[in-house]
Amino acid sequence: HIPVITIDGPTASGKGTVAHKVADKLGFHFLDSGSLYRLTALTALRRGADLRDEHAIAKLAEHLPVSFAGGEILLAHENVTQAIRAEEVGNLASQIAALPTVRQALYALQLGFRKAPGLVADGRDMGTVIFPNAQLKVFLTASVEARAQRRYKQLIDKGFSANMEDLLSDLQARDDRDTHRAIAPLVPAEGAHFLDTSNMTADQAIEQVLKWYAQ
Ligand code: C5P
Repeated sequence: HIPVITIDGPTASGKGTVAHKVADKLGFHFLDSGSLYRLTALTALRRGADLRDEHAIAKLAEHLPVSFAGGEILLAHENVTQAIRAEEVGNLASQIAALPTVRQALYALQLGFRKAPGLVADGRDMGTVIFPNAQLKVFLTASVEARAQRRYKQLIDKGFSANMEDLLSDLQARDDRDTHRAIAPLVPAEGAHFLDTSNMTADQAIEQVLKWYAQ
């Protein structure tokens, strides 16, 4: 039986960093499920797809020529690791993530990440929809201010421009959309451990998750 750890939470809560490092420490595979929605959004943007055409967007999701290689994300051999982090792409990702056919198209792809010796999966519905039988489920949160600050730093570090006020309102809009959508809303999974990282370092959060897993 291949173990799975799910780490769900709102945008910029630090779950990406925590999930990635926990996977490293345990020697597990890592699924950044948000990247799949971002890749679909990036493809839709580039193709000028009609965003009201749910089936066209779902088709793009179903046929994503994606591969993950040593922390880099490739879309048909192009390295898009940075490009998918742009705010524009994240905002569109959150809109198309509300489309049931898009979520359906990405379902099997996500299940395929469960490989020996184990998987750490990061997203919104990892514990509720994709891996409901996970060994450990974590719901990671942080205050909206702490998250906006982290996102700001991330963007600047990656060479994007950023504006704190816009980031705060973007975060709130995305939280709202992710939490209140009809399909796979962002809610804590049954049995999830809560972790508020507002006043925690990444290392402290990683340590806590590893401790829960070892219990
Ligand atoms: O986590 P990240 O910010 O990269 O995700 C981008 C968007 O994809 C989120 O705002 C969310 O709407 C969507 N998403 C989702 N389900 C997941 C992961 C991400 O709906 N499991």
